[in-house]
Amino acid sequence: MTTATEAAVGQAAALLLNSRSGIAFTGAGVSVESGIPHFRGEGGLWTKFDPYKVAHIDTFRKNPAEYWTYSLNHRRPDAEPNPAHRALAELERLGYLRAVITQNTDGLHQRAGSREVIELHGSSHAVVCLDCDARFPRDEVDRMNREHCPPICPACGGRFLKPTVVLFGEALPVGALRDAQALAKAADVVLIVGSSLQVYPAAGIPRLAREHGAELCIVNAEPTPFDGAAAAVIHGKAGEVLPEIVRRVVRDQTGRATAP
Ligand SMILES: [Zn+2]
Repeated sequence: MTTATEAAVGQAAALLLNSRSGIAFTGAGVSVESGIPHFRGEGGLWTKFDPYKVAHIDTFRKNPAEYWTYSLNHRRPDAEPNPAHRALAELERLGYLRAVITQNTDGLHQRAGSREVIELHGSSHAVVCLDCDARFPRDEVDRMNREHCPPICPACGGRFLKPTVVLFGEALPVGALRDAQALAKAADVVLIVGSSLQVYPAAGIPRLAREHGAELCIVNAEPTPFDGAAAAVIHGKAGEVLPEIVRRVVRDQTGRATAP
């Protein structure tokens, strides 16, 4: 680790140690080390596939089979949480994070032990029927999909079973967005991990927090448009940087009896 990186890691740890209402905001970069493909940037999925073909609600409505065929070939149901997910769960357990607000749909934060997880873009683990609103576990629908593509709703026979993942052209889930905004307004620190901070309205969450006085700490492989407004910027792998932040927090919390 360079001296500059070490200083930034120390700064992030110090901010978390003094926080009363810290939150984390995460994007695809936090799951890259778990083998989940990311979308934008070098090697991203959207350099190989046109998002408006495979992940737009209008295309899905026209041809759900195309979406489900794509899903059969690209879904990684066996992905495991990595040290970055586990570090965030640990920060919550220690009392330094109130919640993780995520743009990811992979469920890896929950698997790593995070309890308060707000999924701004829905979940790939739940499937909803657009005709009758019935919900099904993804595993069950994946099984049906392998037998018949596209899968048919067992409740109403409808052809439009869709993961609760927010597709292009769809609005964010109202409840999740409202909860995230409330946490952002109350936050004193936002630990931003693996997000390019270019996708709105999700990127409006850390912006809202900053406008309400929160300090931003950014851990990302590449520069973001928010770097200039952040108290600490660390360009590195989330799976290496976050465990180091946790180590500093644990080392320096001695003397502080209990976390808030
Ligand atoms: Zn149905």
